[in-house]
Amino acid sequence: MTTQAWHHEIGARLEAVQSRIARACEAAGREPEDVRLIAVSKRKPSIAIRAAYDLGLRDFGENYAQELRDKADELQDLSDIRWHFIGPLQRNKARLVVGRAQWIHTVDRAAIINTLNQRAATANAPLDILIQLNLAGEISKSGAQEADLPKLLDLVHSSSLIRCRGLMAITPALDDPQDVAPHFNRLRNILATCHDAQGEPLRELSMGMSADLEVAIAAGATMIRIGSAIFGPRL
Ligand SMILES: *Cc1c(COP(=O)(O)O)cnc(C)c1O
Repeated sequence: MTTQAWHHEIGARLEAVQSRIARACEAAGREPEDVRLIAVSKRKPSIAIRAAYDLGLRDFGENYAQELRDKADELQDLSDIRWHFIGPLQRNKARLVVGRAQWIHTVDRAAIINTLNQRAATANAPLDILIQLNLAGEISKSGAQEADLPKLLDLVHSSSLIRCRGLMAITPALDDPQDVAPHFNRLRNILATCHDAQGEPLRELSMGMSADLEVAIAAGATMIRIGSAIFGPRL
Protein backbone atom coordinates (compact mmCIF):
# COMPACT_ATOMS: atom_id res chain seq x y z
CA MET A 1 0.00 0.00 0.00
CA THR A 2 1.13 3.57 -0.73
CA THR A 3 1.14 6.39 1.82
CA GLN A 4 -1.93 7.79 0.12
CA ALA A 5 -3.76 4.50 0.40
CA TRP A 6 -2.89 4.41 4.10
CA HIS A 7 -4.20 7.95 4.55
CA HIS A 8 -7.43 6.79 3.05
CA GLU A 9 -7.45 3.61 5.13
CA ILE A 10 -6.74 5.37 8.41
CA GLY A 11 -8.44 8.76 7.96
CA ALA A 12 -12.06 7.73 8.37
CA ARG A 13 -11.27 5.27 11.13
CA LEU A 14 -9.32 7.87 13.07
CA GLU A 15 -12.19 10.34 12.83
CA ALA A 16 -14.54 7.70 14.18
CA VAL A 17 -12.17 6.95 17.08
CA GLN A 18 -11.80 10.64 17.86
CA SER A 19 -15.53 11.14 17.98
CA ARG A 20 -15.91 8.08 20.23
CA ILE A 21 -13.33 9.68 22.55
CA ALA A 22 -15.09 13.04 22.43
CA ARG A 23 -18.47 11.49 23.26
CA ALA A 24 -17.04 9.35 26.06
CA CYS A 25 -15.29 12.39 27.56
CA GLU A 26 -18.43 14.44 27.37
CA ALA A 27 -20.42 11.70 29.08
CA ALA A 28 -17.76 11.45 31.80
CA GLY A 29 -17.34 15.22 32.22
CA ARG A 30 -13.70 15.00 31.14
CA GLU A 31 -11.60 16.95 28.65
CA PRO A 32 -10.46 15.07 25.51
CA GLU A 33 -6.97 16.59 26.03
CA ASP A 34 -6.70 14.56 29.23
CA VAL A 35 -6.93 11.29 27.33
CA ARG A 36 -3.85 10.47 25.31
CA LEU A 37 -4.55 8.40 22.22
CA ILE A 38 -1.80 5.86 21.65
CA ALA A 39 -1.97 4.32 18.21
CA VAL A 40 -0.92 0.69 18.52
CA SER A 41 0.99 0.03 15.31
CA LYS A 42 2.28 -3.50 15.92
CA ARG A 43 2.58 -5.52 12.72
CA LYS A 44 1.71 -2.48 10.62
CA PRO A 45 4.39 -1.05 8.32
CA SER A 46 6.27 2.18 8.97
CA ILE A 47 4.47 3.77 6.05
CA ALA A 48 1.18 3.33 7.94
CA ILE A 49 2.69 5.05 10.97
CA ARG A 50 3.88 7.89 8.76
CA ALA A 51 0.35 8.29 7.40
CA ALA A 52 -1.09 8.34 10.94
CA TYR A 53 1.54 10.92 11.92
CA ASP A 54 0.52 13.08 8.93
CA LEU A 55 -3.05 12.86 10.24
CA GLY A 56 -1.88 14.32 13.55
CA LEU A 57 -1.05 11.36 15.78
CA ARG A 58 2.16 11.55 17.81
CA ASP A 59 2.00 8.62 20.25
CA PHE A 60 2.58 5.11 18.94
CA GLY A 61 2.62 1.80 20.79
CA GLU A 62 4.67 -1.24 19.87
CA ASN A 63 4.76 -4.71 21.42
CA TYR A 64 8.01 -6.18 20.15
CA ALA A 65 11.44 -4.77 20.94
CA GLN A 66 13.03 -5.39 17.52
CA GLU A 67 10.00 -4.02 15.73
CA LEU A 68 10.09 -0.86 17.84
CA ARG A 69 13.80 -0.44 17.16
CA ASP A 70 13.41 -0.89 13.40
CA LYS A 71 10.45 1.47 13.10
CA ALA A 72 11.91 4.13 15.40
CA ASP A 73 15.10 4.10 13.35
CA GLU A 74 13.23 4.25 10.04
CA LEU A 75 11.07 7.13 11.24
CA GLN A 76 13.82 9.16 12.91
CA ASP A 77 12.95 12.20 10.80
CA LEU A 78 9.63 12.48 12.71
CA SER A 79 11.39 14.19 15.58
CA ASP A 80 8.39 14.74 17.86
CA ILE A 81 7.02 11.21 17.62
CA ARG A 82 6.68 9.40 20.97
CA TRP A 83 7.12 5.66 21.24
CA HIS A 84 5.44 3.60 23.92
CA PHE A 85 6.55 0.06 24.55
CA ILE A 86 3.49 -1.97 25.53
CA GLY A 87 4.60 -5.59 25.10
CA PRO A 88 6.23 -8.05 27.47
CA LEU A 89 9.81 -6.89 27.98
CA GLN A 90 12.76 -9.21 28.40
CA ARG A 91 15.91 -7.93 30.05
CA ASN A 92 18.10 -8.81 27.09
CA LYS A 93 15.87 -6.72 24.80
CA ALA A 94 15.82 -3.64 27.01
CA ARG A 95 18.76 -2.09 25.17
CA LEU A 96 16.69 -2.02 21.96
CA VAL A 97 13.92 -0.06 23.62
CA VAL A 98 15.70 2.34 25.99
CA GLY A 99 16.78 5.49 24.17
CA ARG A 100 14.02 4.99 21.59
CA ALA A 101 10.82 4.65 23.65
CA GLN A 102 9.90 7.48 26.00
CA TRP A 103 7.43 5.30 27.85
CA ILE A 104 7.40 1.67 28.92
CA HIS A 105 3.98 0.51 30.06
CA THR A 106 4.80 -3.07 30.99
CA VAL A 107 7.18 -2.92 33.95
CA ASP A 108 6.18 -5.72 36.28
CA ARG A 109 9.20 -6.97 38.24
CA ALA A 110 12.27 -5.81 40.11
CA ALA A 111 14.78 -7.32 37.67
CA ILE A 112 13.41 -5.31 34.76
CA ILE A 113 13.45 -2.10 36.81
CA ASN A 114 17.14 -2.61 37.56
CA THR A 115 17.94 -3.39 33.94
CA LEU A 116 16.01 -0.36 32.67
CA ASN A 117 17.78 1.90 35.12
CA GLN A 118 21.20 0.65 33.99
CA ARG A 119 20.25 0.98 30.32
CA ALA A 120 18.84 4.46 30.86
CA ALA A 121 22.12 5.48 32.49
CA THR A 122 24.13 4.08 29.56
CA ALA A 123 21.87 5.79 27.02
CA ASN A 124 21.70 8.91 29.20
CA ALA A 125 17.97 8.93 28.50
CA PRO A 126 15.41 9.34 31.28
CA LEU A 127 12.48 6.98 31.02
CA ASP A 128 8.85 7.23 32.05
CA ILE A 129 7.37 3.94 33.11
CA LEU A 130 4.09 2.46 34.24
CA ILE A 131 3.78 -0.55 36.48
CA GLN A 132 1.65 -3.21 34.83
CA LEU A 133 -0.70 -5.00 37.17
CA ASN A 134 -2.20 -8.39 36.55
CA LEU A 135 -5.82 -7.79 37.52
CA ALA A 136 -7.75 -10.61 36.00
CA GLY A 137 -5.18 -13.36 36.01
CA GLU A 138 -6.52 -15.13 32.95
CA ILE A 139 -5.41 -13.02 30.04
CA SER A 140 -1.68 -13.05 30.44
CA LYS A 141 0.98 -14.16 32.81
CA SER A 142 2.57 -10.75 32.76
CA GLY A 143 1.80 -8.04 35.24
CA ALA A 144 2.69 -7.65 38.89
CA GLN A 145 0.40 -8.62 41.72
CA GLU A 146 -1.11 -5.75 43.65
CA ALA A 147 0.69 -6.92 46.80
CA ASP A 148 4.07 -6.39 45.10
CA LEU A 149 3.33 -2.81 44.09
CA PRO A 150 4.78 -0.97 47.14
CA LYS A 151 8.17 -2.60 46.84
CA LEU A 152 8.29 -2.10 43.07
CA LEU A 153 7.48 1.59 43.53
CA ASP A 154 10.18 1.91 46.20
CA LEU A 155 12.68 0.39 43.81
CA VAL A 156 11.72 2.82 41.02
CA HIS A 157 11.98 5.72 43.47
CA SER A 158 15.54 4.73 44.29
CA SER A 159 16.44 4.45 40.58
CA SER A 160 17.84 7.72 39.34
CA LEU A 161 16.75 7.74 35.69
CA ILE A 162 13.38 6.09 35.64
CA ARG A 163 10.22 7.70 36.83
CA CYS A 164 7.00 5.86 37.57
CA ARG A 165 4.03 7.85 36.26
CA GLY A 166 1.18 5.43 36.89
CA LEU A 167 -0.34 2.03 36.25
CA MET A 168 -1.26 -0.10 33.28
CA ALA A 169 -3.40 -3.18 32.85
CA ILE A 170 -4.34 -5.46 30.00
CA THR A 171 -7.89 -6.60 30.53
CA PRO A 172 -9.63 -9.60 29.00
CA ALA A 173 -11.71 -9.08 25.86
CA LEU A 174 -15.27 -9.69 27.01
CA ASP A 175 -18.44 -10.01 24.95
CA ASP A 176 -19.89 -7.00 26.70
CA PRO A 177 -17.22 -4.28 27.10
CA GLN A 178 -19.13 -2.96 30.12
CA ASP A 179 -18.10 -6.08 31.99
CA VAL A 180 -14.51 -4.78 32.03
CA ALA A 181 -15.54 -1.78 34.12
CA PRO A 182 -14.82 -3.44 37.49
CA HIS A 183 -11.22 -4.11 36.42
CA PHE A 184 -10.75 -0.53 35.23
CA ASN A 185 -12.27 0.87 38.41
CA ARG A 186 -10.05 -1.33 40.50
CA LEU A 187 -6.94 -0.06 38.69
CA ARG A 188 -8.05 3.53 39.30
CA ASN A 189 -8.60 2.82 42.99
CA ILE A 190 -5.15 1.27 43.29
CA LEU A 191 -3.63 4.27 41.51
CA ALA A 192 -5.17 6.53 44.15
CA THR A 193 -2.90 4.87 46.73
CA CYS A 194 0.32 5.43 44.74
CA HIS A 195 2.83 8.27 45.03
CA ASP A 196 6.04 9.29 43.35
CA ALA A 197 9.38 9.80 45.09
CA GLN A 198 8.34 13.34 46.10
CA GLY A 199 5.07 12.14 47.57
CA GLU A 200 2.98 13.50 44.69
CA PRO A 201 0.10 11.31 43.50
CA LEU A 202 0.65 9.26 40.35
CA ARG A 203 -1.71 10.25 37.56
CA GLU A 204 -1.43 8.02 34.54
CA LEU A 205 -3.77 5.13 33.86
CA SER A 206 -3.06 3.15 30.69
CA MET A 207 -6.16 1.08 30.04
CA GLY A 208 -8.71 0.56 27.30
CA MET A 209 -8.39 -0.76 23.75
CA SER A 210 -10.46 -0.55 20.56
CA ALA A 211 -13.43 -2.46 21.95
CA ASP A 212 -13.73 -0.77 25.34
CA LEU A 213 -12.28 2.73 25.14
CA GLU A 214 -15.56 4.31 26.32
CA VAL A 215 -15.59 2.14 29.44
CA ALA A 216 -11.94 2.99 30.11
CA ILE A 217 -12.53 6.73 29.72
CA ALA A 218 -15.52 6.57 32.06
CA ALA A 219 -13.25 4.86 34.60
CA GLY A 220 -10.52 7.51 34.33
CA ALA A 221 -8.07 6.28 31.67
CA THR A 222 -5.45 8.89 30.74
CA MET A 223 -3.89 6.73 28.01
CA ILE A 224 -5.88 4.48 25.72
CA ARG A 225 -4.11 1.99 23.46
CA ILE A 226 -5.96 1.71 20.17
CA GLY A 227 -4.84 -0.61 17.39
CA SER A 228 -7.42 -2.15 15.08
CA ALA A 229 -9.92 0.72 15.33
CA ILE A 230 -7.27 2.96 13.71
CA PHE A 231 -5.18 0.70 11.50
CA GLY A 232 -7.71 -2.00 10.67
CA PRO A 233 -7.61 -5.65 11.61
CA ARG A 234 -4.24 -7.30 12.12
CA LEU A 235 -3.65 -10.22 9.79
C1 LIG B 1 -2.52 -5.02 20.56
C2 LIG B 1 -2.66 -4.27 21.82
C3 LIG B 1 -3.54 -3.19 21.96
C4 LIG B 1 -4.47 -2.73 20.85
O1 LIG B 1 -5.53 -3.64 20.69
P1 LIG B 1 -6.77 -3.29 19.73
O2 LIG B 1 -7.83 -4.18 20.22
O3 LIG B 1 -6.32 -3.59 18.35
O4 LIG B 1 -7.09 -1.86 19.91
C5 LIG B 1 -3.56 -2.51 23.15
N1 LIG B 1 -2.76 -2.87 24.19
C6 LIG B 1 -1.91 -3.90 24.10
C7 LIG B 1 -1.07 -4.24 25.27
C8 LIG B 1 -1.84 -4.65 22.93
O5 LIG B 1 -0.99 -5.69 22.87
